[in-house]
Amino acid sequence: MKVLVVNCGSSSIKYQLFNMSDESVLAKGLVERIGLEGAVLTHQPAGKDKVVITGDISNHSVGIKLVLEALADANHGVIASMKEIVAVGHRVVHGGEKFADSVLITPDVMRALEECIEMAPLHNPPNILGINACAELMPGVPQVGVFDTAFHQTMPKAAFLYGLPYEAYEKYGVRRYGFHGTSHKYVSQRAAEMMGQHMSNLRIITCHLGNGSSLAAIKYGKAIDTSMGFTPLEGLVMGTRCGEIDPAIIPFLMKKEGMSPDQMDEYLNKKSGVLGISGVSSDFRDIEDAAGEGNERAQLALDVFAYKVRKYVGGYVASMGGVDAIVFTAGLGENSIEMRDKICNGLEYLGTRIDHTKNNVRGKAQEISVDGAKVKIFVIPTNEELVIARDTKAICGSLI
Ligand code: AMP
Repeated sequence: MKVLVVNCGSSSIKYQLFNMSDESVLAKGLVERIGLEGAVLTHQPAGKDKVVITGDISNHSVGIKLVLEALADANHGVIASMKEIVAVGHRVVHGGEKFADSVLITPDVMRALEECIEMAPLHNPPNILGINACAELMPGVPQVGVFDTAFHQTMPKAAFLYGLPYEAYEKYGVRRYGFHGTSHKYVSQRAAEMMGQHMSNLRIITCHLGNGSSLAAIKYGKAIDTSMGFTPLEGLVMGTRCGEIDPAIIPFLMKKEGMSPDQMDEYLNKKSGVLGISGVSSDFRDIEDAAGEGNERAQLALDVFAYKVRKYVGGYVASMGGVDAIVFTAGLGENSIEMRDKICNGLEYLGTRIDHTKNNVRGKAQEISVDGAKVKIFVIPTNEELVIARDTKAICGSLI
């Protein structure tokens, strides 16, 4: 059973083709600069050389068509014909309250996705474009939506309501939803496997630390809190996003700087975070380098980031009445030895300590806490595509 996993951004399409009999990746790739000059498809068949295809990729439909052609190409393809693809799984960013799990795409689901656009104006429209393009190019092939928000739908009201008039929730769905759910789900399940335990016995804090960052508290298999909110802007200080701030700062700065709502939105989402604090970069590698050369603001950005993560960890320990495992994942969490060390420095009161030798690891699933620690610390590379492929297989298995 071959399953295509598609993740459409505003000008990009990421894809992976899975052979679900052994969950191997047959090919993966990326279409970039859709609708722009210099559009390009980079296609990587497993075990073969990378292929770069340039051309006029005016929209997502053209992009998906190129991907399907590349997958079935006589030279660099991995399947004889696109008929071998029996199902498509799509990453969808916002499923609102309607979707607590992955779902087979139907006309009703498409209507519900359209209704969520207001809450994710940058993300849901390209996801919808991708689904429509696949429906057009692969008629009759079942498609599944896998939502970033779904895993967090088990959060209790006490965790997801804001201190706003209740009508804001009832009328407009203003509440905390959380994102990166597929990643939090995957790494928490892997941690339980690595501990040889069932999720229903464990309290796990997952730290998805990348350009966008969020933490989740997963108590006995259910997400009970997460740091992102109504949008991915809430919570930790991120690459370019401010994370939690006093909301009164927004009208204050808008008046002081004469900013429009759109300009303020850009200020909070694109100019803030560790980029805004350091003035160096949104990329933690650049910031770590600059801090190493004595740049004080770069050091401050790292300090603020680590402090905030540690503060959330402490909060989630209180929310769950304890913790059994802490997991680091995503670009920074998987790769930055220094940042993991910095975050864990001060968690000894929980009954855990990082083992500096074990922590000397990048991008590999490994326990990094000292032997015998009461609370285990792990690095686990995330694999959102595999979760999407598995959910797609589970939902479509009986239809094919
Ligand atoms: P992601 O959003 O998960 O792709 O993560 C991207 C971020 O991970 C980049 O912006 C970097 O800041 C960070 N990152 C990746 N590799 C490293 C590394 N070796 N050291 C520190 N940070 C890294």
